[in-house]
Amino acid sequence: WGAPYFTANTSGTISVRPHGSNTLPHQDIDLMKVVKKVTDPSGLGLQLPLIVRFPDVLKNRLECLQSAFDYAIQSQGYGSHYQGVYPVKCNQDRFIIEDIVEFGSSFRFGLEAGSKPEILLAMSCLCKGNPEAFLVCNGFKDSEYISLALFGRKLELNTVIVLEQEEELDLVIDLSQKMNVRPVIGLRAKLRTKHSGHFGSTSGEKGKFGLTTIQIVRVVRKLSQVGMLECLQLLHFHIGSQIPSTALLSDGVAEAAQLYCELVRLGAHMKVIDIGGGLGIDYDGSKSGESDLSVAYSLEEYAAAVVASVRFVCDQKSVKHPVICSESGRAIVSHHSVLIFEAVSAGQQHETPTDLKFMLEGYSEEVRNDYENLYGSAMRGDRESCFLYVDQLKQRCVEGFKEGSLSIEQLAGVDGLCEWVIKAIGASDPVLTYHVNLSVFTSIPDFWGIDQLFPIVPIHKLDQRPVARGILSDLTCDSDGKINKFIGGESSLPLHELDNNGCSGGRYYLGMFLGGAYEEALGGVHNLFGGPSVVRVLQSDGPHGFAVTRAVMGQSSADVLRAMQHEPELMFQTLKHRAEEQRNNNNKAGGDKGNDKLVVASCLARSFNNMPYLSMETST
Ligand code: PLP
Repeated sequence: WGAPYFTANTSGTISVRPHGSNTLPHQDIDLMKVVKKVTDPSGLGLQLPLIVRFPDVLKNRLECLQSAFDYAIQSQGYGSHYQGVYPVKCNQDRFIIEDIVEFGSSFRFGLEAGSKPEILLAMSCLCKGNPEAFLVCNGFKDSEYISLALFGRKLELNTVIVLEQEEELDLVIDLSQKMNVRPVIGLRAKLRTKHSGHFGSTSGEKGKFGLTTIQIVRVVRKLSQVGMLECLQLLHFHIGSQIPSTALLSDGVAEAAQLYCELVRLGAHMKVIDIGGGLGIDYDGSKSGESDLSVAYSLEEYAAAVVASVRFVCDQKSVKHPVICSESGRAIVSHHSVLIFEAVSAGQQHETPTDLKFMLEGYSEEVRNDYENLYGSAMRGDRESCFLYVDQLKQRCVEGFKEGSLSIEQLAGVDGLCEWVIKAIGASDPVLTYHVNLSVFTSIPDFWGIDQLFPIVPIHKLDQRPVARGILSDLTCDSDGKINKFIGGESSLPLHELDNNGCSGGRYYLGMFLGGAYEEALGGVHNLFGGPSVVRVLQSDGPHGFAVTRAVMGQSSADVLRAMQHEPELMFQTLKHRAEEQRNNNNKAGGDKGNDKLVVASCLARSFNNMPYLSMETST
């Protein structure tokens, strides 16, 4: 899954090759060096979790997509060009959008918006882009949204209002007359072609979006009646993300191309076919297309299939080849960022009870007998009897505890003994729980929400043999906050030992890859864990081969509190005031060490200003 951007190197760390190939004299970037540099307390001192963005990867993805289509168009003698847009919902980060507009400017790459804030950001970013770049306006629209899109045309931005619902047409006709703007209109068709994976529910006759054939015919009639049929210029469809195969893609594109030709026949001045998103990512590296985790085609094969399908249908109907637009999001931004987080402790290995005889003092006759039987079975290696006596012993002791005849120390003694025996006969669960300084809900929401898997690996120690298998458990107080499914169908990851269980300063860093699309936009603030720190890293001639061009600390506790309408400044004053009252009371009663005015204020301020995650400085 890592090719061509990520590999393990001989130092046992992960190398990043941001341009997808070795661009001498630049060296590959060592991800560990980036992490060390930006977390160094004497430098930037950023807290983890951390997103490392590589704009060079973004540039490479855009260029590869464009050249795949350019090649397909040239080699198949196609009569028009490719002009893509990036759907900003995949990741609305300002610097990603600005980078995409800048990197794609030479080939007229545009943006797609699906809501009012998205169209606002797309309009302002495209002011610096290529004037021919499309701003495709999708999503449910009210008059305010449509006015913004029409206003965009006044600003000489190439906005296209794509009708998702028939009712939007009346608003477009009315507002464009009032604002005296000639709109460019597209319509989203509900295709019959459907893909069967999780993301395919968007498509098919019962899909959530788009116009049916009946509605399309009505829209064409109405536009014709009001003398605006020449405004209808684009046909859009989207059969879902992660389209698994080119066979399905060709099927969908051919169906849409037929519709496109029909619209031409009905008199619309059609120019563009917008094939939506769906260009997939090979998350598991299998290239099988057998699940939502992989796709069975390359970028080049995707582009070739699209161009061939449109060309075939248009040639059949003697229709001029349209501009091909796509709205690839996942395929553009997934690779460009890596989420780095830390394992802070791992589930304890069971300790050998030191004095079994002592532990058995004060137990009843039955318990002692169970113990003798258990011990004898363990010595004989009779696993079946061991399980039997473990169950019996535990049950008897729990009953005793509930009745009040057994103390907590005695119950703990039996539990410890049973765990030790189970381990001694090799039947204990060998999978450890690694606690990670992360919130799954904030940083990997698709894992929780739709079982989406991402490659997760340690980003160092890869030259050392892993000693354990582990699952990852996050910081939230929620049993869903754990990762126990991994790429390759595994229910645990091979992991290394934590030095002194993570407490000796020997840190253990893990990376989640290919999560640049959707995860940041979807993440919530469960338990008030906010967004991670973010750095932007460019390949450079410097001593380490990289330069950090932007670094932003993640959301502080104050930031997330504010997002939920709390007022951190007032909260700070309230708590400080309370501490002062307490100090005055205690002074009267003889003083209270540790409630010093300055100490209290600085502790409070630090807690408001720090990120809500575990602060590794204080815990070590
Ligand atoms: N366009 C539309 C209308 C979408 O709904 C989506 C996402 O589902 C996309 C584009 C982006 O799709 P992808 O991320 O698969 O490229």
